[in-house]
Amino acid sequence: MGNSPNLTTGPLAASIILTGAPGSGKGTQASILARRRSLPHLSTGDLFRSHIARGTELGRAAQRHIDAGHYVPDEVTNAMVRDHIERTAPDGRIILDGFPRTRAQVDFLDTLLTDVVVLNLVVEPAELLRRLEHRATVGGRSDDAAEVVRERLALYAVESEPVLAAYRDRGLLRDLDGAGELHAVARRIDEALATLPAASC
Ligand code: AMP
Repeated sequence: MGNSPNLTTGPLAASIILTGAPGSGKGTQASILARRRSLPHLSTGDLFRSHIARGTELGRAAQRHIDAGHYVPDEVTNAMVRDHIERTAPDGRIILDGFPRTRAQVDFLDTLLTDVVVLNLVVEPAELLRRLEHRATVGGRSDDAAEVVRERLALYAVESEPVLAAYRDRGLLRDLDGAGELHAVARRIDEALATLPAASC
């Protein structure tokens, strides 16, 4: 343990956190990366939606927060993430998207995973809105309705700062241009991963 990156070269042995605002493409890119690297992938948003669709107790607890564009409470989210990581990534390597989203979730994740790197997909606000409006017309996600989107973007703007700062301070974060075509973004991700140290936190 320690705060400085371990400058080991060779294949990246860390878990990969994809972060970015709603509409930044982190879910799509996380799926591509997980397939290409044969790693388990956890999207907390997808997992919540699957619980809601199955009518589980956790789904019922999460739904009203999601529909309002708010975050599901940390205790609920953290317990779900721990359970999922223990079952699907016993060796501690996974691709995460949509987690951690609060500073308390960062501290919790520190107790679960030792080695992480963070790729932050940066997309300008007008483009985020354009993508989310498009998704609302094709996707059928209730939280893509215009007023909920505004709430989610505002929440992200506030909550993401301390999360990004925590990883930036440890030298574990790379900001990447998330604009443009999806294969171009996937290439930028690969290039960034090739230059990141396998890092300890
Ligand atoms: P996403 O699919 O990542 O946009 O997530 C959809 C919704 O699920 C979010 O707007 C939150 O309500 C909830 N959610 C997803 N991940 C988290 C998280 N890490 N912490 C709290 N709520 C979350």
